[in-house]
Amino acid sequence: MSIKVERVTKMYGEQKALDSVSFEVKKGEVLGFLGPNGAGKSTMMKIISCFIPPTEGKVTVDGFDIGSDSMKVRSLVGYLPESNPLYYDMYVKEYLQFVCGLYGITEGVKERVEQMVALTGLSREQHKQIGQLSKGYKQRVGIAQALIHDPEVLILDEPTSGLDPNQLQDIRNLIKELGKEKTVMFSSHIMQEVEAVSDRIIIIDKGKIVTDRKVKETTERLEQTVLVEFDVVVETSLIRSIAGVESVELIESTTYRVTGRSETDFRKLIAEWAKKQDFLVLTLKHEDETLEDVFRKHTS
Ligand code: ADP
Ligand code: MG
Repeated sequence: MSIKVERVTKMYGEQKALDSVSFEVKKGEVLGFLGPNGAGKSTMMKIISCFIPPTEGKVTVDGFDIGSDSMKVRSLVGYLPESNPLYYDMYVKEYLQFVCGLYGITEGVKERVEQMVALTGLSREQHKQIGQLSKGYKQRVGIAQALIHDPEVLILDEPTSGLDPNQLQDIRNLIKELGKEKTVMFSSHIMQEVEAVSDRIIIIDKGKIVTDRKVKETTERLEQTVLVEFDVVVETSLIRSIAGVESVELIESTTYRVTGRSETDFRKLIAEWAKKQDFLVLTLKHEDETLEDVFRKHTS
């Protein structure tokens, strides 16, 4: 297990920012940490990165305790803080060399910096001062900084916030790429983004985990099961004629379970279809809660 969090609580004075949070991240997994502002994402990430201690609970990285083995944990973890604090008057490579110094890297510094510049796509901008870079390139410097000591675990706090659509895509691709080699935990408040990049998603709200699940493959994501109740008995074969519907099961009197695959929400398809047929839909709901349902419920 790369990261193991056990019943972590964090108090800021009277305020409980994390409330007995537990989860694990496997080696090589990309975990999306999703939640609205103030949910406790940054607090959790700062704790794993040894920047602040938990009030209660235990965290280990590769089996090393963040409290008693913090030096070891720091060497295993690369961290991009939410605000990505950088020295704007430093040049890109100068800054990365400086960060090498902070980690006590003294040998092969030049090569290491060059590797990071290439890996994070900074080559074109490498001769500039950080302050002259666009937000997307500043993020790349932040990610290069987090990777400089070749950590096994990468913690990225809102790496895509404030980026334009192109930069966003670039950083997402970079996260996916890095995820092939490393354990990555990144936070975001955008559900679609997390779904596109992660293997697993944890949704956190008000300091508590509200869901922890694997991200489905794209084809699985199209699978839907809805329960529909009409005002009259409807031939199941008729319902099967709706595009994407694969099976229809009579549950009771005028209620049916409809299963199939579609890009469009089945509820919409069925409602529109019923209207055309002059049937009245009395109830219509997804049988399993989608990730979007869970997120909406907790963040509206
Ligand atoms: P997120 O990153 O999900 O937006 P945070 O972890 O930053 O959430 O914050 C969780 C809660 O803890 C919020 O209510 C926030 O106001 C509070 N908080 C965060 N940092 C501090 C701090 N240093 N002192 C007091 N309260 C804090
Ligand atoms: Mg935050």
